[in-house]
Amino acid sequence: MTPKIVVAGSLNADLVVRVERFPASGETLRGRRFDVLAGGKGGNQAAAAARLGGEVAMVAQVGGDAYGPWLRRSLEATGVDLTCVSTDEGVSSGVALITTDARGQNTIVVVAGANGTFTPDRLAPALTYIRHASVVLLQLEVPMATVERAAAEARAAGATLLLDPAPAADVPDQLLSLASLVTPNESELAALASAPMHDGPVPDDEIDRRAQRLLSRGAGAVLVKLGARGARLVTPSRCATWSAFAVDVVDTTAAGDAFNGALAVALAEGATLDDAIRFGCAAGALSVTRPGAQPSMPARGEVDRLLRQDTGE
Ligand code: ADP
Repeated sequence: MTPKIVVAGSLNADLVVRVERFPASGETLRGRRFDVLAGGKGGNQAAAAARLGGEVAMVAQVGGDAYGPWLRRSLEATGVDLTCVSTDEGVSSGVALITTDARGQNTIVVVAGANGTFTPDRLAPALTYIRHASVVLLQLEVPMATVERAAAEARAAGATLLLDPAPAADVPDQLLSLASLVTPNESELAALASAPMHDGPVPDDEIDRRAQRLLSRGAGAVLVKLGARGARLVTPSRCATWSAFAVDVVDTTAAGDAFNGALAVALAEGATLDDAIRFGCAAGALSVTRPGAQPSMPARGEVDRLLRQDTGE
């Protein structure tokens, strides 16, 4: 039996340097601390779903450097099936070089490495997994042609397809039309709808107009992640908001990945879309209460407890 949830996407080593201030061009500074953390939107969503009890397989590629085996080990530790993670010996693994200063500002340089050479032909060994999945999660950190091929295979086989259009990029109409649910945050929605970014929060009626543009381009439904304001669903027949759970915020990194991983677990378990969105909001909220990406993904018991508290059980 292959896992019910398949995540096809990126794996990155996040190389995080903490400095007092950013160096000027040509300057050498002493850093305060250095950490290597498992990241990449694909890996984060797979780890999130596995932590929540989902049966998850990752479809991805690492490079021929030392980060390749390290990325495999970190994801394997979360219980994800790595049968479909291959190695491109000729390139580096995907890395994000992140520098954070004392005020919490950061600069990020991403090198796609093996994520960038993960071309559609390299999906071949994973097609059986994709065709047997009940939910497939895709993001945009591997080549668009690979995302399109995985989407087409998933939908032809009848899977529910969650498309996270992140990082913000132009998405072909054909790909939007394959998605059961497109899950942008506010800035990704603005990019997809070719709308300006607002200074403050975008009002609901404007979110709905932007989401409706994606529906008219073929998306089945749009679920907009609104950070501390929760999430808003826009479908051809209704618009509805789920409030965020009130939590103490420590680090909002990868809240969207926790949300998407959770959504996939609930849908794979047969929950209604409304209940799955509530489950996603609870996982997203818990993930912002601690630092980091994959280490901040909540366990199933924590999410269930938050949901029970909320209903006063
Ligand atoms: P992204 O990380 O993609 O920008 P969001 O920041 O919108 O996505 O987070 C995803 C989900 O996580 C939100 O829809 C919300 O349910 C939850 N969430 C995010 N930030 C908070 C917060 N500060 N308080 C409570 N829930 C949050």
